[in-house]
Amino acid sequence: MAKRDYYESLGVAKNATDEEIKKAYRKLAMKYHPDRNPDSKEAEDKFKEIKEAYEMLSDPEKREAYDRYGHAGVDPNAGMGAGAGNFGDVFGDIFGDIFGGGRRGGGPQVYRGADLRYSLEITLEQAAKGFDTEIRVPSWEHCDVCHGSGAKAGTKPTTCHTCGGSGAVRMQQGFFSVQQTCPTCHGSGQEIKDPCTACDGVGRKRKNKTLQVKIPAGIDEGMRIRSAGNGEPGVNGGPPGDLYVEIHLKEHSIFERDGDDLHCQVPLPFVTATLGGNLEVPTLGGKGEITIPEGTQTGKTFRLRGKGIKGVRSNYPGDLYCHVIVETPVRLNEEQKDLLRKFEAALDDGGDRHSPQNKSWTDRVKKFFS
Ligand SMILES: [Zn+2]
Ligand SMILES: [Zn+2]
Repeated sequence: MAKRDYYESLGVAKNATDEEIKKAYRKLAMKYHPDRNPDSKEAEDKFKEIKEAYEMLSDPEKREAYDRYGHAGVDPNAGMGAGAGNFGDVFGDIFGDIFGGGRRGGGPQVYRGADLRYSLEITLEQAAKGFDTEIRVPSWEHCDVCHGSGAKAGTKPTTCHTCGGSGAVRMQQGFFSVQQTCPTCHGSGQEIKDPCTACDGVGRKRKNKTLQVKIPAGIDEGMRIRSAGNGEPGVNGGPPGDLYVEIHLKEHSIFERDGDDLHCQVPLPFVTATLGGNLEVPTLGGKGEITIPEGTQTGKTFRLRGKGIKGVRSNYPGDLYCHVIVETPVRLNEEQKDLLRKFEAALDDGGDRHSPQNKSWTDRVKKFFS
């Protein structure tokens, strides 16, 4: 199976910084998130692809391995396929036999339940302050018809005829004798001839439960909160898996988050930009104000210290960066236009010194044509 290059998946260069990778991931994750694209298999696949790419490239060790060896260096599934290349399993069993590790001597095989992932979309304000919420997650309870045995009422599970109840079989693989999970009973050591019709022989039924989740203040896109033991139940008495609540931030109408910092763009009236003055700006906590110096150009950035977000592991809140955009007045009446024409004529008397950028621009153009 051809796998896409992780850098390509995220649309970043090979030498992209961690910050660039994070930013690219955040943008794509927002776009392809399953909650935003219900019933789109394409978006779901794309989301998985970028998530994997991010998981690999955001981990310095994995990224190094990937840069060096490609997918084979990091693929979580690499080397797990069946066949001759299956060294991991083979040696695992050999060492297991020699050192007495792993499972030996029979008895049903115990498996830990699978982990579950719950995707939670929250607003920037919620992420900044933290909050308590409830989520509905799947849970399982014993089937009350068969009392968890999985066998039809009046019958009982019998000892597996393939493995004799040990849950494992030995197979010859080349020179090695390999212990494998019994293909008939899948490790339970029991066979159910007549499955319970209420639960299809599984022994339990799925239902939903409500879980209280505490979202800590400062949480960011892609972070996960672990809820121990709330995943799928284990098999043959194994421990349950965990539930992971994965956080996704909704797009904000004003602020863009970058780690603990926030960015926003603020229109600046051109008279204020020219003469200087105060400009009201939004902050997450309410209204703020910045002092605009005389002669401020468009694109200038003003930093409001501590008006960003205090990250989960940060000691101090980040900053808010206001990028001002000087606004050109529109729909002027004749009188206003006339004032501007007079104003322009007055500027001409002062020569280049009123337009610092225009002067250097004109110089560059002259040089270009000479
Ligand atoms: Zn049942
Ligand atoms: Zn068996």
